[in-house]
Amino acid sequence: MSKLRFQAVLESRNRKPVTIEETGRRSELYAQNVFNEERMLQHLTKEAFESVKGAIFSGSKIDRKIADQVAEAMKGWAIGKGATHYTHWFQPLTGTTAEKHDAFFDLLDDGRALEKFGGGQLVQQEPDASSFPNGGIRNTFEARGYTAWDPTSPAFIYGTTLCIPTIFVAYTGEALDNKAPLLRALNAVDDAATAVAKYFDKTVAKVNATLGWEQEFFLIDKALANSRPDVMLTGRTLVGNLAAKGQQLDDHYFGVIPSRALNFIMDLEIECTKLGIPVKTRHNEVAPNQFELAPVFEEANLAVDHNLLLMDVMDKIADRHNFKVLFHEKPFAGVNGSGKHNNWSLATDTGVNLLRPGSTPMKNLQFLTFFVNTIKAVDTYEELLRSSIASASNDHRLGGGEAPPTIISIFIGKQLSNVLDELEGVSKGKLSPEEKTELKLNVVGKIPEILLDNTDRNRTSAFAFTGNKFEMRGVGSTTNCAKPMTVLNTIVAKQLREFKKEVDLLVDGKNLKKDEAVFNVLREYIKTSKRIRFDGDGYSIDWEKEAKKRKLSNNKNTPEALAVMTAKESIELFDSMKVLSEVELRARQEVDLEAYILNNQIEGRVLNELVNNHVLPSCLEYQTKVVANISGLKNIYGADYKKMTETQHIILEDLIAHISELKKECDAMTKARKDANTITDSNKKAIAYCETVKPYFEKIRYHSDRLERILDDRLWPLAKYQELLFTN
Ligand code: ADP
Ligand code: MG
Repeated sequence: MSKLRFQAVLESRNRKPVTIEETGRRSELYAQNVFNEERMLQHLTKEAFESVKGAIFSGSKIDRKIADQVAEAMKGWAIGKGATHYTHWFQPLTGTTAEKHDAFFDLLDDGRALEKFGGGQLVQQEPDASSFPNGGIRNTFEARGYTAWDPTSPAFIYGTTLCIPTIFVAYTGEALDNKAPLLRALNAVDDAATAVAKYFDKTVAKVNATLGWEQEFFLIDKALANSRPDVMLTGRTLVGNLAAKGQQLDDHYFGVIPSRALNFIMDLEIECTKLGIPVKTRHNEVAPNQFELAPVFEEANLAVDHNLLLMDVMDKIADRHNFKVLFHEKPFAGVNGSGKHNNWSLATDTGVNLLRPGSTPMKNLQFLTFFVNTIKAVDTYEELLRSSIASASNDHRLGGGEAPPTIISIFIGKQLSNVLDELEGVSKGKLSPEEKTELKLNVVGKIPEILLDNTDRNRTSAFAFTGNKFEMRGVGSTTNCAKPMTVLNTIVAKQLREFKKEVDLLVDGKNLKKDEAVFNVLREYIKTSKRIRFDGDGYSIDWEKEAKKRKLSNNKNTPEALAVMTAKESIELFDSMKVLSEVELRARQEVDLEAYILNNQIEGRVLNELVNNHVLPSCLEYQTKVVANISGLKNIYGADYKKMTETQHIILEDLIAHISELKKECDAMTKARKDANTITDSNKKAIAYCETVKPYFEKIRYHSDRLERILDDRLWPLAKYQELLFTN
């Protein structure tokens, strides 16, 4: 019955590292398969090149004639590199990516080739949108969807396919994907931040949001992962007793990477290098078989594409190395979970990181402007930011001890706290020359370029300033970064727009100098956004109480967290920033709720199957053996058997008790699930799953894990934690 487990264990133990060939120097491989600026220079006419560059810089339209030229050049380049197909690569609301491959040519019967890739095919395609989630948009508008070329993210060849990054929208214009709103948010933050940056440097023409993600994941032997239905179907273990050795010894973190995993990571890095994904660091994470990959940061839209591409490439390369990658936020109960920290900043086209303290008072005033505005934005919209990282799988991680809590707060460190405290004391209105000098010399001028306490090592802050960027730590390892990045850039854009209005009003209406006006507005922001700042331990009981006093939201699960998406303020925000219409917002909330329901529904079903078809039969088999042992001894020794079978009786009673509870809880869960399924309103249904179904998962798990501890190891049907986590 448990044959599969032992076959898998054997298979995994006999594995050898898969050898890989370094096919060239990394610098030569870099972006080999990307139609980037360098390729465009080689393959496009000057006119076409300038047109694409213009589209990237300012979003200008590319006309059809140019699109034909670009398509021709792309095709020639791709075919030269062995590509046979092309695809529009997009990000439907499933959270991952989708593609539909078409051949560049079709051969006609008479042997002539039929051209299939021109400007039209580059610019627009019509995938069958009916199979992607849309949250009701398509029913409302009966609109078909189409994908449209995003020239700001370069096309690339993956395998033998030319992939063209695209947005996915309904014919009526509503976004059906994660990329379209992100691009709108990035546009909004560009406009707002450029206007503010001009206060300090008139030559700034564009501001890019930058993103550097850190992807955590588990690497599990393929045979072992496939031997467990829960891992295969839900990406996490629904039952499983904690291994005798866990992460207590901390011997994995930054330890030597085992050779099988190392070869996988090297192989992956080579592929990433060719695809232009600038992967840089790698190390073991806290838990056994857990790792992290982080690239050099990039413009946010490109960084998002690269993260999605990476996750896809990882799956494929892992397979070659007989691994399965677990991206789930909490694949193993009691073991460190996986996140995807989003490091974020703003950079000008003049090469300045707006969140890096500078060497002069003026540069630091610019830094403080963007720094304080970000704090203010997060303070105003903390609940919305929380909603952007809500998912069934991340619910297992947030607030789980090793990740940030469900309360959003900002860590800025002692040095900057002191600076903000000083700025709070700035006089209202015009500043005396003495005060100005004092500010320049002793406050603004004193911010060191390198901050001492620029990292928050206890990791309990959801939003931390880490020296020259903010780090959003609640993002889950499966999350499409486009979601939090859309919200973050939108709220910062909105905030910067308000800021500019207020400063201009003081300059024009009150005759203040620009720097005086800036100080005045920042002072008020510092005062009014204090509640979001917290440098202490996010896991202390006191912080929960304190956060409540400060009226910070503390939404502990996805249905609770998603509610704010359609609050009046959120609708106004996204509408005024032209990022999402009310229809789009409601649709997104609906999609997220449906995903939550589906996720729990699947887990419930799989758990039921695990218990009834795997765990219980094995337990009954063991029970039969124990019973046979007792009655055998009774046959031989008669009345004396009692003394001899005391242990067997303890085991038997334990078995009986847990088996009966296990079955009971499982049946009750099934009933709760059926009741929940009759609810038609998604929000109510999600809440029902959260409150009446999910609690059974833990109870079921408890009894199953107890049984795992009792049972003869040879009979236990599922690969154990120690096998999953310590095989390498
Ligand atoms: P941690 O201590 O959080 O693991 P790392 O040094 O591993 O920190 O990660 C830092 C991350 O921050 C990297 O992914 C890097 O690309 C990113 N990063 C650095 N500077 C910026 C920036 N200006 N904008 C966005 N991301 C940045
Ligand atoms: Mg980090």
